[in-house]
Amino acid sequence: MAGEILIKPDLQFVKRVIAAGGDTVKKCYQCDTCSVVCNLSPDEKPFPRKEMLQAQWGLKEVLSDPDIWLCHQCSDCTVYCPRGANPGEVLGVLRQMAIEKYATPPVLAKAVGDPKFLPLLIAFPMILLALAAKMFGYLGIPEGEIVYGKMFPTLLIDFIFTGAAAFAVAVLAKGALAFWQDINAPHPWRVKVEGNLAGNLIATLKDILFHNRFRLCETTYKRSTNHLFLVFGFIFLAMVTGLAFYHEWFDPHGQITKVYVTMKLLAIPGTAALLYGIWNLIKERQANAEKAGYGSYYDWFLIYVILVVGATGLLSWLFRLVGIGILAYPTYFLHLTAIFMLFFYAPYTKLAHIVYRTVAMLHARMSGRGF
Ligand code: SF4
Ligand code: SF4
Repeated sequence: MAGEILIKPDLQFVKRVIAAGGDTVKKCYQCDTCSVVCNLSPDEKPFPRKEMLQAQWGLKEVLSDPDIWLCHQCSDCTVYCPRGANPGEVLGVLRQMAIEKYATPPVLAKAVGDPKFLPLLIAFPMILLALAAKMFGYLGIPEGEIVYGKMFPTLLIDFIFTGAAAFAVAVLAKGALAFWQDINAPHPWRVKVEGNLAGNLIATLKDILFHNRFRLCETTYKRSTNHLFLVFGFIFLAMVTGLAFYHEWFDPHGQITKVYVTMKLLAIPGTAALLYGIWNLIKERQANAEKAGYGSYYDWFLIYVILVVGATGLLSWLFRLVGIGILAYPTYFLHLTAIFMLFFYAPYTKLAHIVYRTVAMLHARMSGRGF
């Protein structure tokens, strides 16, 4: 019969939502208060009520619903929900499960969300880096002036981290493509996209970069400001790293040496912004824990990796400046371990939000959903 919808509930899926932290999903009685109070929800087919219903009923299709990515987990809905169903947190769990669905291999995404795999996730880059240092650099505390290149020659660093970044980009690109195909597949709840892809993509990226939608949140408004610091800290550090790479590989006559030496100073405000942003994000989460939820292990995984990247980066610079090799080299080793975790596990952590949220916001903009 035309227009008939076949509903296939999956009880295992509901159990997984509950186990991953969405234990309140069953409390929802569909009053729709959450969709009304959400400042980010469009008038047409608003979220998060319909996603709560799908999750309750075990409809796995919700994992390819672009609307779960339009939510910035500000918790306005959680504060107003009369049943304590925590819709903001449930959507967070659905996003985590969507990352698992689109990531390759999904088992790595499951490992990132499960604390019992944390020792393994840390051990992998540590062993890899230790072996690399042993074979091509120096595993220990080198004599003389502190030069990190003695432990890890530049070529080795470039090889390891370009490889880790390339892996992450490939996995994310594959996932994003599959997600885009899914959200454009015919479905009763979905709408077709129209218009100029490049122009809409640029507008979407601008929205994301300046957190225009994130700043519409109320309960955790400060989170968007702290997040902005974090993002611009990353951008500054990425610019310095990119320039260093270019200088090393594509500038044999040192034509950009002066620019590079000046631009290197950007690493200082970059690290400061990163540490300021992440530290305040932690404090804000703790301060708002009662009304907005404390966040899951999955949320905290990325927060702590970023904190370790920033703190060990700063400390390895300071220890080198004051010449304490016995502290400088191990701190640098930890710094590289954390950076590897940030890059290599990016398709499985909340960092993947950047990619899937961009795809979902692009879709929303191109399907005229008030973006
Ligand atoms: S999650 Fe809460 S506010 Fe939203 S529909 Fe369910 S009971 Fe109502
Ligand atoms: S957490 Fe915030 S953005 Fe997400 S659905 Fe609730 S009110 Fe909307």
